[in-house]
Amino acid sequence: MDLPIYLDYQATTPVDPRVLEAMLPYFTERFGNAASRSHAFGWAGEEAVDRARKQVASLIGASPKEIVFTSGSTEAINLALKGVGEMYASKGKHIVTSQVEHKAVLDTCKHLEKQGFEVTYLEPSPTGRVSVETVAAALREDTCIVALIWANNEIGTLNPIREIGELCHERNALLFTDATQAVGKVPVDVERDGVDLLCLSAHKLYGPKGIGCLYVRRRNPRVRLVAQMDGGGHERGMRSGTLNVPGIVGIGEACALCERELDADSEHARALRDRFEGRIFAELDHVHLNGDREHRLPNCSNVSFAYVEGESLIMGVNDVAVSSGSACTSASLEPSHVLRACGVGDDLAHSSIRFGFGRFTTEEEVDHATQEVIAAVRRLRELSPLYEMVQEGVDPGAIDWSGSH
Ligand SMILES: *Cc1c(COP(=O)(O)O)cnc(C)c1O
Repeated sequence: MDLPIYLDYQATTPVDPRVLEAMLPYFTERFGNAASRSHAFGWAGEEAVDRARKQVASLIGASPKEIVFTSGSTEAINLALKGVGEMYASKGKHIVTSQVEHKAVLDTCKHLEKQGFEVTYLEPSPTGRVSVETVAAALREDTCIVALIWANNEIGTLNPIREIGELCHERNALLFTDATQAVGKVPVDVERDGVDLLCLSAHKLYGPKGIGCLYVRRRNPRVRLVAQMDGGGHERGMRSGTLNVPGIVGIGEACALCERELDADSEHARALRDRFEGRIFAELDHVHLNGDREHRLPNCSNVSFAYVEGESLIMGVNDVAVSSGSACTSASLEPSHVLRACGVGDDLAHSSIRFGFGRFTTEEEVDHATQEVIAAVRRLRELSPLYEMVQEGVDPGAIDWSGSH
């Protein structure tokens, strides 16, 4: 067993060796520019891109012409929201999103607010779900787009996207979903689920970093958007720039593997996660599961260990690579905006850790990591006067900390 054990699959995943193998020739002998129409080098690149486009489309039930390759989900999110916002501004400048989106969505919405758009940030349930009813209540005549995350990257909660898609179509609003954590983990079908725009990213599904895509619906309705990158008119004019052929081959192969192995991957991760949670909840008291027990990604477990500081716990488990939630915000000491929106108090939010299990995680690794976590929590709690008081039956909420008796 190699140490440390990687349990941060929501932050990124290793490239599957089969994906790497498919990519390698496109760095060397097949290096052609996919836009070079005048020779065999270019044709080989174009052929590879066409194949990859089919593989990506197939995984999400789209047609290949609906796939626009980008540098990842962040860029796809910017293109979707700014591109649709600009194109449909005359219809209306109202956007519906939620408080539990990824920073890429929240920050893009903040940008659009400065451009005169009005944004409604829906409050989720305590388990992090956005209900169809709250979306219905927020929709207006001038709503141009609804942007909701499919599977939350911090707590794994799944939104009822199919129901929301139906509602949006009835009410004539476009639905964009950030499916970066969902694709490859749960079945996604843009037709069945009524999604108009969707982003995904290769490095979250065993492909390389720096490549992703935006799905843009072409029929019922045909979605139009304003390009955010001007240049050679690549990707049907929606995203100029020489195509990253090795990366595109990589995302294609990664998607093809996910399509074949989705059920097996999910079952594998779910079994490991349940094994982990079973022991954690049996052996430790005062632990809380964040997110939705029922509607949740199979590979994610976000747990608050009361009376333990999350950062201390992360430092305390040397053999385990985990994070407190979003890799993008872990540099700041702010508690997670997702947990806060779910109504988790700052104390518990500061004691939460996200565990992510994946294709290459083994039972042996999970058992070792579980043991380390349990030992570290016990060790840290021994140093906590608060935990000691609770053990003695004192209600910490009733303590007067002011010192004025
Ligand atoms: C990782 C992630 C992103 C950002 O994707 P990049 O491809 O790294 O830009 C956006 N949304 C969610 C839910 C993510 O997990």
